[in-house]
Amino acid sequence: MNAPVETLPPAESAAPTADVALPPPAPLIIRMLRTMRVWIDSHSSMQSEADGKVPLKVDWFRLAPFIGVHLACFSVIWVGWSWVAVGVALGFYVLRMFAITGFYHRYFSHRTYSTSRVFQFIMGCIGNSSVQRGPLWWAAHHRHHHKYSDMPEDGHSPRQHGFLWSHIGWISAHANFRTDMKAVPDLAKFPELVLLDRFDTTIPILLGVGMFFLGYFLNIFWPGLGTSGSQMLVWGFFISTVAVAHGTFTVNSLTHLWGKQVYPSNDDSRNSMLIALITLGEGWHNNHHYYQSSVRQGFRWWQIDITYYGLWCMSKVGLIWGLKPVPAKVIADAGKLMDKPATA
Ligand SMILES: [Zn+2]
Ligand SMILES: [Zn+2]
Repeated sequence: MNAPVETLPPAESAAPTADVALPPPAPLIIRMLRTMRVWIDSHSSMQSEADGKVPLKVDWFRLAPFIGVHLACFSVIWVGWSWVAVGVALGFYVLRMFAITGFYHRYFSHRTYSTSRVFQFIMGCIGNSSVQRGPLWWAAHHRHHHKYSDMPEDGHSPRQHGFLWSHIGWISAHANFRTDMKAVPDLAKFPELVLLDRFDTTIPILLGVGMFFLGYFLNIFWPGLGTSGSQMLVWGFFISTVAVAHGTFTVNSLTHLWGKQVYPSNDDSRNSMLIALITLGEGWHNNHHYYQSSVRQGFRWWQIDITYYGLWCMSKVGLIWGLKPVPAKVIADAGKLMDKPATA
């Protein structure tokens, strides 16, 4: 069993900035080979990047698979659609968005509940299938965001870097590829999680292959469904994955731009019902920035938080426990403290 932690460990290293003295770049072919190795073993570059002297700009080689997943969605023109393929895409959107919000965010990043070591690993694997890197990388960057929220060090602040960078640019930057182990000592002590984080493309590839064979066998045994291997791959993996990615990214971009502030969280975080529906509850971002230790992000009954409802059900069957509540005073404070400036 993992003991719950009350406070987050410090994220000691700030994001590299563009004005550090950069070493001369390696020859192009060497950089390409290094990048191809990092596609498979994401920790292979960690030592060389540990000094932080890496440029804060888009790394197109490293980004190639991410771009490829987007481009692959256009092949829907050739594979067509079927109700079963669209249904699988929707189902895997909900499952993997829940894994990002309920597991990567509320467990690995904030430790708002407890579980067994075995189920912790299962949660990490399901979260990894969302193609948003490993649980340590995700949690390390997220803890850094909370520590420096909307300050110059914040890697995906719209205030500091604009909408496009906060939405997708930051994840494309070479400087942000490395997993900062110092920010996640509570997770790095589990070798199985480190392994998962290191080989973070394995499960996504297996999921893609699995989708292809699902459609392939459905076509053989239930041809009336009108699907195929390639159609299921496009809908169940590529389209679903891109939708989960951009749904998640709205939390980094739009919830620091749109919506209402009810708490003085010293940053630009806001509450948005629309984004809460898209992300299964993460749209109550101002609530969350003000009080991060709660498993709930919708503090009021009408603040729809589907991830919380799912986690509550999981607690009732014993998969997780020790769900941390929202203190009554925090709920009562909503709106009362806003006479203070919201930004420091
Ligand atoms: Zn958070
Ligand atoms: Zn935020």
